Amino acid sequence: MSIKVLVIGAGPAGYPAALTAAKLGAQVTVVEQALAGGVCLHSGCIPSKSLLEAAHRFDAVRGIGTLCQNDVQPQTQAILKELSWPKIQQRQLNVSNKLAAGILSLFRMAKINYMQGMASFKDEHTVTVTNKDQTQEVTFDYVIIASGTTAFIPAPFDKIRSAIYDNSTVFKMPALPQKMVIVGGGAIGCEFATLMSSLGVAVTLVEMQPRLLPNMDENISRLVGQSLQKRGVTLLLGQSTTDARVEGDKKILTLQNGTELETDEVLVAIGRQCDMTPLHPENAGLSWNRKGLQGVNSQTLQVKDHIYAAGDVTGLTLLAHAGTRQGVVAAHNICGKPMTYNNDLVPNAVYTVPEVAGVGLTRAQAQARGLDVKVQKAFMMANGRALTMDAPEGFVEIVSDKASGKLLGAVLAGPNASEIISAFTVALEAGFTTEQLSQVIFPHPAVSEAIGDALAK
Ligand SMILES: Cc1cc2nc3c(=O)[nH]c(=O)nc-3n(C[C@H](O)[C@H](O)[C@H](O)COP(=O)(O)OP(=O)(O)OC[C@H]3O[C@@H](n4cnc5c(N)ncnc54)[C@H](O)[C@@H]3O)c2cc1C
Repeated sequence: MSIKVLVIGAGPAGYPAALTAAKLGAQVTVVEQALAGGVCLHSGCIPSKSLLEAAHRFDAVRGIGTLCQNDVQPQTQAILKELSWPKIQQRQLNVSNKLAAGILSLFRMAKINYMQGMASFKDEHTVTVTNKDQTQEVTFDYVIIASGTTAFIPAPFDKIRSAIYDNSTVFKMPALPQKMVIVGGGAIGCEFATLMSSLGVAVTLVEMQPRLLPNMDENISRLVGQSLQKRGVTLLLGQSTTDARVEGDKKILTLQNGTELETDEVLVAIGRQCDMTPLHPENAGLSWNRKGLQGVNSQTLQVKDHIYAAGDVTGLTLLAHAGTRQGVVAAHNICGKPMTYNNDLVPNAVYTVPEVAGVGLTRAQAQARGLDVKVQKAFMMANGRALTMDAPEGFVEIVSDKASGKLLGAVLAGPNASEIISAFTVALEAGFTTEQLSQVIFPHPAVSEAIGDALAK
């Protein structure tokens, strides 16, 4: 008889876990309290990239004048005036809905039992699933918890919670404001600053750390900061917010240095938090805190005995593709096909202009570990393809171990950085040296040629 696997949550961690377990012969049930696809599909990765794509099209309209014989300002202004936020949102919804329908169809094909409702542990082998119609009990041999995270809104923003947007609710903003303050200069904050500035919103970005994207390479942070400033974004770095209040239809934030920012809308994008209250994991002997479920093995994804976890809830890396890999690994381990997850080789990409991405160790991280490193760098301003795209900003920086030549990591800024970074992920997975990577032939002209150029130095 096949084993019974329950997956809680149908986000990018849960649904691949379910499909993998079904493919490996398990009898699978998925419980989802909202929509298949999770945050990623409905209020995260896909919606933000869909909106950014719309924004890029308006940027292209703005730039078309340089290719026209006559002054086309009046025509471009006329097009820009026609920008429709509801239509941009509708296009985004269509993309998300199409992908969500695809997941449900994959579930049907894999004969996965999909249950709509809120799962709550009754004991170590039982959950109750409650929806508006009924409460049912589901028993299982194994469970994969992939219940994700929610937006983190600490003080002072919590006291004006209903008047501000977070990194999930912002997608439903009914109209574009004239002025917006974005609090948080991480990936989501920088992407929204790019998006909103392209759509004509006057953006102020407030970040507590002295630089944007604090988890990325310092030169990447600088480049993204300069690029946002060129787009008209006001950057306030090294500033925390001490107070927030609403006056009429305006929101007023007070910064640590006493500055008051008056704005139409506020987006607080300062991170995510784990809240497992409704799931009652304590009934299965599990504990959790704001950062995630406790006791998750970072290689096998096992929490204890027959309980596994995947995705944001593990607190390992809060990215969709990390969750997907964790879900696949957990399902394999449950189904008797041992597999491990490597949290060190998860690429990350930020979809600003230019895009930026990294994988493995940055120069600073490698040096902090006491490694003697070699750094090789090439700039996009010397890359043919980047110049044909009017995108000379950016670089590729490759970090390797000086003695062995073993590749340690890379950071990249430039067009399609989110795609090109995979060349490094593959090379790192394969344990390449820089010498081996330099043997790879890249197409010409291509942005990826910058990799060869850096290694030739
Ligand atoms: C604005 C934004 C942009 C982002 N952009 C990117 C990006 O470009 N690239 C990237 O890699 N990541 C991005 N992320 C992060 C990414 O969305 C998350 O890492 C990813 O969604 C986590 O997947 P998950 O499956 O762990 O959780 P989720 O996607 O949160 O899915 C969890 C699911 O579990 C369900 N659930 C929870 N509790 C229960 C319960 N008790 N019973 C039943 N169902 C339950 C929820 O309804 C949800 O559908 C972004 C996030 C945001 C907010």
